[in-house]
Amino acid sequence: MRAITVLPGVANSARLDDVPEPPLSDGTVLVRTVALGVCGTDREIISGGYGYAPPGQQRLILGHESLGHVEVAPAESGLAPGDLVVGIVRRPDPVPCPACAAGEWDMCRNGRYTERGIKERHGYGVERFRIEPEFAIKIDPSLGILGVLLEPTSILAKAWDHTQRIGRRAQGWEPKTLLVTGAGPVGLLAALMGVQRGLDVHVLDRNKAGPKVELVRALGATYHYDPSDVEELKPDVLMECTGAPPVIRDCLGATAPAGIICLAGVTEPGSKFEIDIGSLNRTLVLDNDVVFGSVNANRRHYQMAADALARADKDWLARMITRRVPLERWSEALERRPGDIKVIIDFQ
Ligand code: BGC
Repeated sequence: MRAITVLPGVANSARLDDVPEPPLSDGTVLVRTVALGVCGTDREIISGGYGYAPPGQQRLILGHESLGHVEVAPAESGLAPGDLVVGIVRRPDPVPCPACAAGEWDMCRNGRYTERGIKERHGYGVERFRIEPEFAIKIDPSLGILGVLLEPTSILAKAWDHTQRIGRRAQGWEPKTLLVTGAGPVGLLAALMGVQRGLDVHVLDRNKAGPKVELVRALGATYHYDPSDVEELKPDVLMECTGAPPVIRDCLGATAPAGIICLAGVTEPGSKFEIDIGSLNRTLVLDNDVVFGSVNANRRHYQMAADALARADKDWLARMITRRVPLERWSEALERRPGDIKVIIDFQ
């Protein structure tokens, strides 16, 4: 069967390979892939900047934003042939650390977690994969192809979950304004979930026109392309979804008192800026501000994400998927093209 594989650490080594059927050791549930979403992490792996093959192997099957139909499932798994499912990305570390032991592998403390399609475990970019029932999320069949958005949505479900938990450190903290930086898939999903929470949502991105602007406006949120427009906004919550160092610098200290900044984008090291640490520290301390990072998601977040997608306008979600590429032409999905938001690879 066909799979998109890569030699981690080697740029441009990705190819469509012929691979054996998945081993039973991957899990008792057999899934036929319907579609695979592509994100910045996949591009980073393909460029040789990230990713690890399973121990003892050279190549890694790519892909972590999955969607598939169950083909075979044991009766006691709660899954049945035909069910539409998405696979959880991370697996707990083997020790396990206290977080992984409690099912919060997204908070792994020793870094020995594994991730499908990213770190030491084959991914979902293959025609059939196997998965453990407890790491498969059954989704509402009415979502159809939109179910491929579940994994990126789970990332924002966690970001929101933790933002709200941090907010509860103070009595009566009721956020009213949200600023999202970046109108890619992660930023748009952050904005969607902000609107679902009744916030006044603002999104900052570079594009002056195009599908991102229209999608933000269709949410009832305000779109900005000029950073000076949001200088005085002072949001209660700021979700940084660009991972762009100059944007991150401008976010620090930009919230209202008791503000919370969630950093959701991963960056490459190497960008250096001069920052007035005294001034920044003074703002953060005197205003009780919080800046925190958020990565990955546990099963509870996938469930929250499924609820968020179920409540969202399906037409709006469909407009996020701007390109669908057949598996034979998989490499086109990894190119960045104007107007792209979420690009997916069709396996059927
Ligand atoms: C994935 C996460 C993963 C992270 C780091 C992201 O693209 O969505 O599940 O934890 O990359 O590997």
